[in-house]
Amino acid sequence: MEIIHSIKELQQKLDRNERAGRTVGLVPTMGFLHEGHLALAKQAKKQNDTVVMSIFVNPAQFGPEEDFESYPRDIDRDAKLAESAGVDYLFIPSVEEMYPTDGGIRILPGAQATALCGASRPGHFDGVLKVVLKLFNIVDPDRSYFGMKDAQQLAIIETFVRDFNLRTNIVRVPTVREEDGLAKSSRNVNLSETERQEAPAIRQALELGAELFAEGKPAGEIEEKVAAYITGNSTGRIDYVSLLSYPELTEYDPSSEEAILACAVHFEKTRLIDNIILK
Ligand code: AMP
Repeated sequence: MEIIHSIKELQQKLDRNERAGRTVGLVPTMGFLHEGHLALAKQAKKQNDTVVMSIFVNPAQFGPEEDFESYPRDIDRDAKLAESAGVDYLFIPSVEEMYPTDGGIRILPGAQATALCGASRPGHFDGVLKVVLKLFNIVDPDRSYFGMKDAQQLAIIETFVRDFNLRTNIVRVPTVREEDGLAKSSRNVNLSETERQEAPAIRQALELGAELFAEGKPAGEIEEKVAAYITGNSTGRIDYVSLLSYPELTEYDPSSEEAILACAVHFEKTRLIDNIILK
């Protein structure tokens, strides 16, 4: 595995004219890797000749009061894990390398970004689209891998690729969980011991919601009961619990094929998200 910090150097290595038909898979991350990220890399390794993983804590997707500074980072550990998952190029640009200039052009997501995390984190998905477009242009990947853990992000990126004819195929990867059901997340290290013990309540609540959904209960009742379960079984404070059509992220319509039950919960130092897809 090669570690690369420079955009130019990575572009030279991946030049399409010199690829000679070899396929490239891209796994964008913010680092502090866990098995969720590694699942994306392993899937990319199965389907491509070359795997590029990026590690970039993207300031553009953090609000002024958010955890950009305290976001966990450990590049040496990440490099070992990335190599073990089959990554060929680990791309770790600095903020100056990624954003040396700002000509003021903005990429704005549509209605999909008005729900869920988009509602509580204004501008978050603008920053996500900005970095994702840059990464697509730098790497020119045949396939790009995103986790269902961030289902709203995935839905918005799929729309972006479809509507703007971006030349990559998006691959959805299922959420990897701890044994007790908590979705793996780099932010889990910012939970206190007690909070870590309580956090599986999020998954349990979503499973309860899935049962109520299967029983045909209305969206409002499901959202209420899921929120009550979380607050009754943890010290977490609900940001949102929401049942929507997926991937449109519009109000749940029983005629739509899939729905998402998603939630975000604040703990003292961190905010966790999770979701379940309902068919
Ligand atoms: P992050 O480093 O949190 O920005 O995540 C980078 C990528 O890994 C995103 O596509 C996430 O959806 C994905 N990811 C994060 N956690 C998990 C998980 N527990 N299971 C599967 N994918 C994940």
